[in-house]
Amino acid sequence: MTSDRSPGYGAVIFDVDGVLVASPHEQAWRESLCELMTGEWSAVRDRTTWSEDAFSSQVYRQVMSGKPRMSGALAGLQYFGVPDATERAPVYADLKQRVLLRLIDERRFHAYPDALRFVLAVRGAGMAIAAASSSKNAHRFLRAIRLDLFARESSAGRERLPEGMTLLDAFDADLSGRDFAQGKPNPEIFLAAAAELDVAPSACVVVEDAVSGIQAAKAGTMVALGTARAGDETDLERAGADLVVSTLDDVDVEAFVTGRLIRRSG
Ligand SMILES: [Mg+2]
Repeated sequence: MTSDRSPGYGAVIFDVDGVLVASPHEQAWRESLCELMTGEWSAVRDRTTWSEDAFSSQVYRQVMSGKPRMSGALAGLQYFGVPDATERAPVYADLKQRVLLRLIDERRFHAYPDALRFVLAVRGAGMAIAAASSSKNAHRFLRAIRLDLFARESSAGRERLPEGMTLLDAFDADLSGRDFAQGKPNPEIFLAAAAELDVAPSACVVVEDAVSGIQAAKAGTMVALGTARAGDETDLERAGADLVVSTLDDVDVEAFVTGRLIRRSG
């Protein structure tokens, strides 16, 4: 920040769900808890604050989003005051995974076009890129998205991509779903990504949509770029994001490739 000549960023580390892909995690968490509360667990339902309406998108984002599956399940059950949450969490986590796989099979997800444009731009500028999602399913999404077709159809990016290239192929490293001692907001996964790319943490930009992810980036001394696609700018700003945008098209890419994270003017 204080040097006359910006050294530029060395790498960009992307969260997957909510940043690159509109994935059906939220729906899977909601549908699976509804199934349990109206079935197997209906006897304890009156002792909880759960209802279909109570499980809002805001609850998902603030309580569960960005966490590894088991911690997400536990946090959700605790939030709704479900008795014996620790014992029940594995049941909820397992059912959520089954529902999620069904939604993936049904192709109920898509990539965000602004994110694909951003990936192509930073990659084209020679920056290393990594995917770092807590989710063990992230590679399923990344592999299902054809980056070559997107680049051709949208004429984004200057280079011609190899036939059949997927979004997963675009990454120099994929840390997604790897087991770490602690999940986000601990910075471990991002620090491991920086190490794998051989870039100093302070020269890495993390792109995240979850409060826990922004906190993890800052704890790792990285630059944090928040994507607030659901109008939750304030939460991400409070978590310490260096810039929050509602679409990555709002990032000034020309400035970004020279090491400045600013909003595009006009
Ligand atoms: Mg996310």
